[in-house]
Amino acid sequence: MISTPAYAGFAATTPLGPHAINRREPGPTDVQIDILFCGVCHSDLHTVKSEWTPPTYPCVPGHEIIGRVVAVGSDVTVFKVGDIGGVGCLVDSCRTCPNCMEDLEQFCERGPTWTYGSTDPHTGGVTYGGYSTTIVVDEQFVVHIPASLDLASAAPLLCAGITTYSPLRHWRAGPGKRVGIVGLGGLGHMGVKLAHAMGAHVTLFTTSSAKEADARRLGADVVVLSRDPEQMKSCANSLDFILDTVAASHDLNPYIVLLAREGVMTLVGGPPTPHPPILAGKLVNKRRSLAGSLIGGLKETQEMLDFCAEHRIACDIEMIRMQQINNAYERMLKSDVKYRFVIDMASLKT
Ligand code: NAP
Ligand code: ZN
Ligand code: ZN
Repeated sequence: MISTPAYAGFAATTPLGPHAINRREPGPTDVQIDILFCGVCHSDLHTVKSEWTPPTYPCVPGHEIIGRVVAVGSDVTVFKVGDIGGVGCLVDSCRTCPNCMEDLEQFCERGPTWTYGSTDPHTGGVTYGGYSTTIVVDEQFVVHIPASLDLASAAPLLCAGITTYSPLRHWRAGPGKRVGIVGLGGLGHMGVKLAHAMGAHVTLFTTSSAKEADARRLGADVVVLSRDPEQMKSCANSLDFILDTVAASHDLNPYIVLLAREGVMTLVGGPPTPHPPILAGKLVNKRRSLAGSLIGGLKETQEMLDFCAEHRIACDIEMIRMQQINNAYERMLKSDVKYRFVIDMASLKT
């Protein structure tokens, strides 16, 4: 066992704090990674604060992991000691069901093994995430980080990047398409950058007037303050695709009516309480669709990283020490992050 310093949540209402965990010794197909950076996703907060199903405590979150390979198992073929590897939300799946066979491991029919909070098939315990100094992962669930990317600002691509890239690709964002992104947080700011890089016309919807200038800098062609009904009305029937990244319950109807004929609105946010009811008439009219999307598979995650390298895209980050995580969560709840916290894991080693 590899004794590993970590930070954990111990209960829904108490702060995160130091905790020691054990990682397995690398097996034949495993890669051991010395974690350099880990992004802070709103899903970490939802999970550790028990806003979804109650997690197993102590809970070590973190699924935007970048680090250096320090050991490899005897059968590992695509990583060697010294390489940089990335780990996102998934660390295993059945690999044989139809969804896994189609590179959609996130929809594994057995249920994927999540980076944190899943039953660990190796130990029988629970999986622990990237708020820690070391992780051991099967090489098939580790991605390569293109050399041109800055490691700290690439870390959040492993969740925020793929969660926005995958639906934008699936619903064919590109030249001639009018795309709306709702919420300028970790996911939303990547949605704006990626949709812009794909060639779409991008409208950003925000509740924060102070983010307007940033939104344009990040690639938005139009910025709409969503609390202003007049501004919302000016977009009626105009958008081909809307990606809603908001982390809190909110009324979707004012967005659905912004879709053009056959437009699609896709939800990726996971608010702890339900959204207000959908008015069927808003969907029925103009044959609109409401959809959802969940991260992306390993193959698409690698494709997204390569796309980001090609288009020189990374996240806008605020670097924090591990010890600042509770304050970071408080700021995230106030939508006060520009635009992703990333933990410098060296802070946990000293
Ligand atoms: P985040 O950085 O906190 O950003 C969320 C943004 O939503 C905020 O910056 C804010 O943008 C907007 N917002 C927050 N509260 C709001 C409210 N009450 N009304 C309207 N807008 C509000 O969070 P994130 O890390 O991007 O994650 C967003 C959500 O996606 C979370 O629920 C997370 O769990 C989920 N998620 C889903 C997947 C998936 O695969 N489906 C993957 C990762 C995360 P403005 O200030 O611009 O309004
Ligand atoms: Zn995430
Ligand atoms: Zn499967």
